[in-house]
Amino acid sequence: MPALPGLEVVRSPIHGYGLIARRDFAVGEIIAWVDGVLYREKDILDDTYALWVDEDWYLDMVDQTRWINHSCDPNGEVEAELDGAGGAWARIVAIRPILAGDEITYDYAFSVEFAEPCHCASPACRRWIVDADELPRLGARLRAAR
Ligand SMILES: [Zn+2]
Repeated sequence: MPALPGLEVVRSPIHGYGLIARRDFAVGEIIAWVDGVLYREKDILDDTYALWVDEDWYLDMVDQTRWINHSCDPNGEVEAELDGAGGAWARIVAIRPILAGDEITYDYAFSVEFAEPCHCASPACRRWIVDADELPRLGARLRAAR
């Protein structure tokens, strides 16, 4: 698969591999379109690189965008939509100015059921990879698990 222009997969200080910018990106600029295979939640084989699109529809990310790490203070966000013709599109958009060398991140915003410990090291880290709106529910889950 050809490398996405302006991006490179490297070892990441956050986790495993990460995707870094090889050029600057302005706010609102599309960093990459996501190549993926659309499937319904009930047909899930492996949700490691699943990107939620709508209702029970997910994209299994098959290109370098799958290596983008979560951050609680991200510089990118996902825009994704069903296309009405049996497919879907998704893209990563810059929400802060990104400089060459910066790691691209977005907020995975997992629901409580899928929450994982976070090591993004941003000052705003929620310590869990979870949707900020779900934090109260996460607290209840953790207390119940003790
Ligand atoms: Zn974090």
